[in-house]
Amino acid sequence: MFIDPIRHEFETTQALIDEGPVWPNVSPEEVREHLVARYDFSRAIPLEDVAADVEEMLRRWQVQITHPRYLGLFNPSISFASVIADALVATYNPQLAAWRTAPAPNEIERHTLGWLATKFGLPSNALATFTSGGAEANLSAVVTALTHAFPDYSDNGLRSLAATPVIYLSAEAHHSFSKIVHMVGLGRKSLRALPTDLDLRMNPRALAREISEDRANGFAPLMVVGTAGTTAAGAIDPLQELAQLCRDEGMWFHVDAAWGGAAILAPSLRNHIAGIEFADSITCDAHKWFSVSMACGMFFCRYPETVARAFRATASYMPGSAGTTTFDPYTNSVQWSRRFTGLKLFMSLAERGESGQAAMIEHQARMGEVLRESLSAAGWRIVNKTPLPVVCFTRDGLDIPGFLSDLRNEQTAWMSEAHINGTSAVRACISSFKTTEGDIHDVVRDITRLAAKQGIHAAG
Ligand SMILES: *Cc1c(COP(=O)(O)O)cnc(C)c1O
Repeated sequence: MFIDPIRHEFETTQALIDEGPVWPNVSPEEVREHLVARYDFSRAIPLEDVAADVEEMLRRWQVQITHPRYLGLFNPSISFASVIADALVATYNPQLAAWRTAPAPNEIERHTLGWLATKFGLPSNALATFTSGGAEANLSAVVTALTHAFPDYSDNGLRSLAATPVIYLSAEAHHSFSKIVHMVGLGRKSLRALPTDLDLRMNPRALAREISEDRANGFAPLMVVGTAGTTAAGAIDPLQELAQLCRDEGMWFHVDAAWGGAAILAPSLRNHIAGIEFADSITCDAHKWFSVSMACGMFFCRYPETVARAFRATASYMPGSAGTTTFDPYTNSVQWSRRFTGLKLFMSLAERGESGQAAMIEHQARMGEVLRESLSAAGWRIVNKTPLPVVCFTRDGLDIPGFLSDLRNEQTAWMSEAHINGTSAVRACISSFKTTEGDIHDVVRDITRLAAKQGIHAAG
């Protein structure tokens, strides 16, 4: 594959995106009419024309998440290596379900995940697989924890259990767990979403009380989910204390580090997620702060045998195991047919090197600091506390929906709304490695002007 023409194409496109709007302005009808008018699939259309039309739609009719002023929901700008990796994967279309079918792709994934598992402080025999994202990784954690705690769960299901298992997380934890407990049959009432402290972190003492109350009432406390970087405010639960509590209580400790896990590579940040090395399982998304294209989630687990029990399967039509040292993903994960999603992380890490990857993460953390300082200096009030680059802010009297709609009309930046300790705030996350100090100063100047338009001046 000659990468230079593709690099040129990628860089040209990125430059166009950077100059263009970040918010789309389109109605569902407009998109549908466009599709109906052109694509009834009754005639063949040259691929060049289809590609040009699709690219035009992508340019105009979506939020540009690789824009330097997309201050969004953890969706990153992407490495060029991701593009090359995805093109190679589509071209060769390897099937990773069984090792025998794809020795090189499977070993590339083992190699990459093994390296990252060691960074997290997990033992060298820890299990890791790529997933479609954090939601699938969290699902894998719950299924594995159930399999670990209840030997009968695998064959006879939840109904064979004497007590109802419950899962503890903070009220700020990711809502994928609510779908997961429904899917696995635990039911949504099996979640205990604990109120947080003012910094939006789980309170271990309140958690210990809740666990002992549940035991007294005949429930079976199963697992604690500690979040390392909550979605709304970037809060990091006290992982070391939660790990200790889980050890004392004989419970599974899962760390959901879908976004924040990347901090493990950054010397200035990694101490903030200390305790992650005690996790029984970890969720981390490469398609967030590792800046590779979607979809590239990861699931790590300390107990490979338990994962193998949770996802075991035998099928006469599948290639047999290639030996005791090889690994068949389809008997160790939710997926069966498996795309070579790990290649984009492998190629990104290989191209940047660990220090290049770390520098990118540190740059974004530093831009988060610049944003905090710049907002405070312009009279905004920061309402969340985190070392990670997500900033929630407001000022007295701000009409947030009106403010966000001004941001859209003026194409200032993409931001969203978050509820922090009962108040509404604007949420901005440095999700692109392209965001510069200049971008931030421009954005803060412009949003301060927009707020003034609402009649809000000076320090509020
Ligand atoms: C994004 C996120 C998830 C969900 O991950 P997907 O990749 O969107 O499936 C779960 N937990 C946290 C903390 C997240 O930030």
